[in-house]
Amino acid sequence: MIAASIQAIEQKIKDRARLIAVTKTKPVAMLQEAYDAGARLFGENKVQEMAEKQLQLPDDIEWHLIGHLQRNKVKYIAPFVSLIHSIDSLKLLQEVNKQALKNNRVIDCLLQIHIADEETKFGMLAEEAEAFLRSETLNDLLNTRIIGLMGLATNTNDEEQVRREFRELKQLFDRLATIRTAQVQFSELSMGMSGDYEIALEEGSTLIRVGSAIFGAR
Ligand SMILES: *Cc1c(COP(=O)(O)O)cnc(C)c1O
Repeated sequence: MIAASIQAIEQKIKDRARLIAVTKTKPVAMLQEAYDAGARLFGENKVQEMAEKQLQLPDDIEWHLIGHLQRNKVKYIAPFVSLIHSIDSLKLLQEVNKQALKNNRVIDCLLQIHIADEETKFGMLAEEAEAFLRSETLNDLLNTRIIGLMGLATNTNDEEQVRREFRELKQLFDRLATIRTAQVQFSELSMGMSGDYEIALEEGSTLIRVGSAIFGAR
């Protein structure tokens, strides 16, 4: 079941993007099953859960933190996290930089952009993101690299609205990708979940984050 779902999604991707298997709330045995089916990118939204699972699974997994991240918890994932999708403030990025330095690594990050027509979702506005990427302060954060953007579309059945939101995010991505410094090097656009990843792929996603379509409802 898990293996068949992963294969079906990979066939739809057709090399356009990479699949992040979103494993939050799911037991380690199910993650192992996904791993055995070939999945290597895993996404979690809680720091402690991700750290516990990481200890129990093979070392060649790329761990993606896709949920809201509190500054005081960065230290628990800094030794191993592969990509943090949810940077939404300079203070958070500074803490990631500090913990990355302690671990003698460079941690890749995405800026989370608010694209949904919903008040509850986290993320920066387009203008904030641009000012952020152009700020001189970033040049001091030698142990972080911002490699793109992440967004969540509105949770709606209106496919045209979802498409519009993804298209806007892709346009912002293309515009901001022209900013290139040692700390800013865009290559990844993280958008699309179980309900909307096919639209996201059509609109230029490079990383889709799919949970329930692989592992069943949470
Ligand atoms: C849970 C989650 C997903 C996956 O959601 P599904 O609808 O189960 O595919 C993707 N992105 C984020 C940020 C999430 O929290």
